[in-house]
Amino acid sequence: MAFTIDLTGKTAVITGSNSGIGLGIARELALAGADVVLNSFTDTEEDHALAAEIAETHGVKARYIKADMSKGDQCRQLIADAGRCDILVNNAGIQHVAAIPEFPVEKWDAIIAINLSSSFHTTAIALPMMRKAGWGRVINISSAHGLTASPFKSAYVAAKHGIVGLTKTTALETAEEPITANAICPGYVLTPIVEKQIPDTMKEYNMTREEVIADVMLKRQPSKEFATVEQLGGTATFLCSDAAAQITGTTISVDGGWTAL
Ligand code: NAD
Repeated sequence: MAFTIDLTGKTAVITGSNSGIGLGIARELALAGADVVLNSFTDTEEDHALAAEIAETHGVKARYIKADMSKGDQCRQLIADAGRCDILVNNAGIQHVAAIPEFPVEKWDAIIAINLSSSFHTTAIALPMMRKAGWGRVINISSAHGLTASPFKSAYVAAKHGIVGLTKTTALETAEEPITANAICPGYVLTPIVEKQIPDTMKEYNMTREEVIADVMLKRQPSKEFATVEQLGGTATFLCSDAAAQITGTTISVDGGWTAL
């Protein structure tokens, strides 16, 4: 049996997708024929232009819907407004780096809300839609930090481990249905969330940009290369294929060997 990936007629909702990995995944799913709903908390001309560009490039329907993933009701409304959600990619995420005693409580709360609780809210509304459509894919973007820890990233590591647990539970609750739930665990990908960490780390360790990339960021990534948003998009697209129909409740690392260490 030959497995093909044709997502024509499916609608994918990707949270936090006006940049970085989310946008990369949206582009790859559109390339495979899916209609896509882009999202972030802003509502700019550029946000809507991105959706128009994807629609034009791939001949699919693409929309941008503003919703703040730190607010449970807006997470739920995003999926309701999409009207259909065959593929849910929970990707929105933020980072803050500080030791636990100094970690600002509002940053802890925001990271848990955006990186973890938002996925519970979107999944709660999306699953009944998938059941009605008779097919579904939940793809949660965790991290190498969903499987291992680093100092000074307590909230992020806790949220990303939490996402792996939510993924397993979602998979068990849908196990006898044509719905799967999996988590992708990227290592370092050079996106805005990572770019923002470079200046602080340069200051902290008195290093050049190149040294921070090689000796801090990619130190734990044995391939010594960043993963790319296209590779993550390809992994998400594979999880939507028939070949992946029995892959559920697990994690897929795209981390250049980080978690093999
Ligand atoms: P990014 O900063 O480019 O993207 C984050 C996205 O989330 C953006 O579109 C942003 O607008 C959106 N977002 C932030 N707060 C939001 C909110 N309140 N409501 C809605 N959207 C919001 O970073 P990225 O690297 O593309 O990160 C995407 C995901 O991948 C995150 O969950 C991140 O933790 C995860 N990840 C990234 C890396 C990496 O090295 N870049 C590694 C592992 C995991």
